[in-house]
Amino acid sequence: MQLQWNSTIREQLLGQGLARLPHAVLLVGPAGVGKAAFSEQLAALLLCESISPELSACGQCQACRWLDAGNHPDFRRVAPDGDEEPEEGAVEKTKKRSAANIKIDQIRELEAFVFVGSHRDGNRVVLITEADAMNPAAANALLKILEEPPPSVYFILVSSKTKSLLPTLRSRCRVIPFGPPEAAAAAAWLAGAGLEKQAARYLNLAGGAPMRVAQWKEQGQLAPIDALVESLVSPPADPIALAARWDGLLKGDGMFRMENLVEGVQRWLFDLAQERLAGETRYHGGWPRPKGVEKLNPNALLAAWREINQFRRSARHPLNQLLFLENLATHFLRALRPVA
Ligand SMILES: [Zn+2]
Repeated sequence: MQLQWNSTIREQLLGQGLARLPHAVLLVGPAGVGKAAFSEQLAALLLCESISPELSACGQCQACRWLDAGNHPDFRRVAPDGDEEPEEGAVEKTKKRSAANIKIDQIRELEAFVFVGSHRDGNRVVLITEADAMNPAAANALLKILEEPPPSVYFILVSSKTKSLLPTLRSRCRVIPFGPPEAAAAAAWLAGAGLEKQAARYLNLAGGAPMRVAQWKEQGQLAPIDALVESLVSPPADPIALAARWDGLLKGDGMFRMENLVEGVQRWLFDLAQERLAGETRYHGGWPRPKGVEKLNPNALLAAWREINQFRRSARHPLNQLLFLENLATHFLRALRPVA
């Protein structure tokens, strides 16, 4: 599917034809704004043997079918390998995946691919998803390859965490920044993904990134997000009762984890302070607002917002989940005390 909001990027990159495409591109920007889809389309375009005049892959030729099936001989996909530890449940799996990285062996394997000729006498494409997950040795090995890439080899790197990328690696690539789409385009995309009615409010929480919302839906996170906000709009006065409600959310079917919960509480406090100080919210536009915001103390809200950073650091592995939640609830409720 072509993403209409990325058409300007497409035009900049392909406007002068495929022949002018740089041999290494780095797609950067927040998660959920279409970088992955764009990278796949670009790879398909470079490999397709029957490109349309508007520069789209045909989807039907031998090359397109191979790519689809994951066995095109002139295509390599490099992603963090999750083989560090055996996988257990779904929650465990994500934990491991985020710890996994791209290792030097994975890049070394590319050398043979890059420096030996093409199977189809056409382009060869290397797609590196989560390029920031390369460990330093892997990134340096890739740099070596990028110093003298053979003419028909293209590298497509994708990253949502550009701070973790080696600057030298960035400098070897044409950096293509992606951003969130206009609200209307995002809403239209979400409607296509079956999220029409609630689209706008989740979009604010996702920083405007529609694919992130779709991912939340897929992972069963929307219901817990709703329930979390509900618990924040009218919380019980007792931290133990609030912690028990939160504990229930973490034990649900969806992939709603402690990090998500802590981030949700923190953003809620941020928005209360914003609302109090500037009369607007960043994350919770379109959500129910609590009563009596005008009586809250913005300094207390901001102090709690900052304090919760320490919770974020230990959210992945709290020693005692219930105690952790009670402590968080205490901080949250304390921030809601009205100005004396
Ligand atoms: Zn094709």
